[in-house]
Amino acid sequence: MAQHFDYIAIGGGSGGIASANRAAMRGAKVALIEAKHMGGTCVNVGCVPKKVMWHGAQIAEAINAYAPDYGFDVELKSFSWAKLVESREAYIGRIHQGYNKYLSSNGVTVINGFAKFVDNKTVEVNGELYTADHILVAVGGRPTIPNIPGAELGIDSNGFFELDAQPKRVAVVGAGYIAVEIAGVLHSLGTETHLFVRKNKPLRTFDPYIVDTLVEIMAKEGPTLHTDCTPKEVVKESDGSLTIHFENGHSQNVDQVIWAIGRTPTTDKINLAAAGVEVTEGGYVKVDEFQNTTAENVYAVGDIIENGIELTPVAVKAGRTLSERLFNKELPDDLKMDYELVPTVVFSHPPIGTIGLTEQQAIDQYGSDNVKVYKSSFAAMYTAVTQHRQACNMMLVCAGEDEKVVGLHGIGFTVDEMIQGFAVAMKMGATKADFDAVVAIHPTGSEEFVTMR
Ligand code: FAD
Ligand code: NDP
Repeated sequence: MAQHFDYIAIGGGSGGIASANRAAMRGAKVALIEAKHMGGTCVNVGCVPKKVMWHGAQIAEAINAYAPDYGFDVELKSFSWAKLVESREAYIGRIHQGYNKYLSSNGVTVINGFAKFVDNKTVEVNGELYTADHILVAVGGRPTIPNIPGAELGIDSNGFFELDAQPKRVAVVGAGYIAVEIAGVLHSLGTETHLFVRKNKPLRTFDPYIVDTLVEIMAKEGPTLHTDCTPKEVVKESDGSLTIHFENGHSQNVDQVIWAIGRTPTTDKINLAAAGVEVTEGGYVKVDEFQNTTAENVYAVGDIIENGIELTPVAVKAGRTLSERLFNKELPDDLKMDYELVPTVVFSHPPIGTIGLTEQQAIDQYGSDNVKVYKSSFAAMYTAVTQHRQACNMMLVCAGEDEKVVGLHGIGFTVDEMIQGFAVAMKMGATKADFDAVVAIHPTGSEEFVTMR
């Protein structure tokens, strides 16, 4: 006999956990099915271990670049990659415990195993059948590996987090968040790092003002950026090292090749067709604005949805909003996730923060006559008193007669911690005049956002 629930969430990652907990808090009988580790990509092989490594890299930068001019005569005896990994994994272990406790206190039944659809109300896990009135698919993605000879000799972001020793020389291939972040961490921790992008720069979807600053800083401080490099082949040498060859004739001999060329939704092995759930050619689940799939009572959130935004808080919010719509009788039936003005940070060196439209997107949307851009460029004070001055560049994109702030972008020291509150203001429809009406906090970097002329 199949065990029956009101709600089953497949995938114990950002979206699945958040949705399962919220549904249970609203009184539903809920099961959460996870094939591997609770927390999914973000906790185990994504945001969390990445941010820990980034903090480690920041400590290295503080010691190596900034400490001497602040008067510290520091002798760095050694850096233990293994110790950093040990601390990181212990922290992740504590997050696992926290998740399990919270799920248990909400009365969510956790099922360990790989779920497959039998029909739109039934899934099978380890030979057992489970039925539910509503089923959420939140199975996330996996790193994409290029289809070139020797690609299997490289590792992906999951493999990066499995490294128990620091590689000496690395080629990171890719141009998105992951490539930029991993290359920055490795470089700051002392690895000879080469970042290969196939076009003219990384992060091409970000505003050029910001990305060009990153490229300038990389040219001064590293990692070594190689442009117009499309990977062709990876070859293992007799000494165990790897040589990566590119279409343009360039080759690089390294100890490790790391692929960071995007992610693929893991929707191919869960028998979605049996439930009537349609996917795109790339495997992304087709959903409407309410997270409904093409199958009745089957929903999808997170990295697997068509035209989605692959960020943890997006998966979390979509998952929670869906559960409120399904199980909270006090809220309207048409409750839906708002995908507009999602703030995001790239943990590069220095970090990038961005909300809303780039200058070009604003021009395309409002016309060039209706767009006004404000910029501020300065050396971050933390760095300005040292020989390692580093740029902090910020920009507001305003539209219409009332100069509504439709884009906010920054790169520089602590920008990652500056932008969350500005996202609130922009969500509320703040104009440049609203920004100007705020008294600045001095001396900070964020005050620039409210004092631009
Ligand atoms: P996931 O978190 O991937 O969870 C899916 C879960 O489903 C997994 O645990 C998987 O094991 C499980 N699963 C899959 N198939 C089945 C099945 N058939 N049965 C049962 N379980 C199954 N986002 C940010 O916002 N900030 C960051 O700093 C950030 N850094 C990142 C760094 C890296 C290296 C990576 C790879 C990603 C990063 N992200 C970041 C993105 C973020 O991790 C994802 O957007 C988020 O985890 C997506 O959540 P999800 O619920 O869609 O899927
Ligand atoms: P992205 O999709 O962001 O970037 C991958 C990039 O690699 C592409 O945009 C493309 O850039 C380039 N690329 C694609 N195919 C190839 C190829 N065959 N050879 C060489 N380069 C190629 O993917 P990521 O893997 O970096 O990250 C996935 C998502 O996870 C991100 O989009 C983000 O949403 C999320 N994430 C968020 C983080 C955060 O919030 N800080 C951190 C990490 C991930 P081009 O066309 O310019 O060559």
